[in-house]
Amino acid sequence: MKKGKFVIISGPSGVGKDTICDELVKKGMGRYSVSMTTRKKRSNEIEGISYFFVSKEEFKRHIEEDYFLEYAMYNGNYYGTPSEFIFNNLEKGTNVIGVLDIKGVLNVEKIYPEAISIFIMPPSFEELEKRIRNRNTDSEEVIKERLEIAKDEIKCKDKYDYVVINNTVDKAVEEIIQIIKFEKNICS
Ligand code: 5GP
Repeated sequence: MKKGKFVIISGPSGVGKDTICDELVKKGMGRYSVSMTTRKKRSNEIEGISYFFVSKEEFKRHIEEDYFLEYAMYNGNYYGTPSEFIFNNLEKGTNVIGVLDIKGVLNVEKIYPEAISIFIMPPSFEELEKRIRNRNTDSEEVIKERLEIAKDEIKCKDKYDYVVINNTVDKAVEEIIQIIKFEKNICS
């Protein structure tokens, strides 16, 4: 049986990664890998669906137990990808879709180079700022920090296998579906 593909969706905060992943899952392109984080839960997020929200102590315990495929620190909080879910599904031939930052992508490429990394670009920096502000979930300080991080993230876009511009969710999702189908056909 052909192995599943690990599809990594990355990109600046507010670019629409979650919406894109939701659509990919709805369209049967794979299962979503729920990450673990020490960040505070936002009001619109659901435990176990958006993230597994844990304390720093619990996260560190999981690091010691070798629970993560990779983990990274982003803006003062830990984020990590549980490895068991990913490899169980890939073995069964099911694609797994995960959201990681650039540090996570570079780490995964070292240990699992078959992963497909896709960077989602905003149509413009102004549009990105508008989207983060419209989300109404973060304080002004956090918004400013995330915009600064976004500038650095966009500079690294050439490190990814593919870059997709999120002009509209439908178009971005369609483009990603074509990428996954293409990658599944060229490697088994
Ligand atoms: P947010 O707080 O906006 O949900 O996520 C902040 C950043 O953490 C985003 O760039 C997102 O891609 C990244 N992220 C989410 N989950 C993981 C993970 O499991 N590992 C890594 N390395 N980054 C993650």
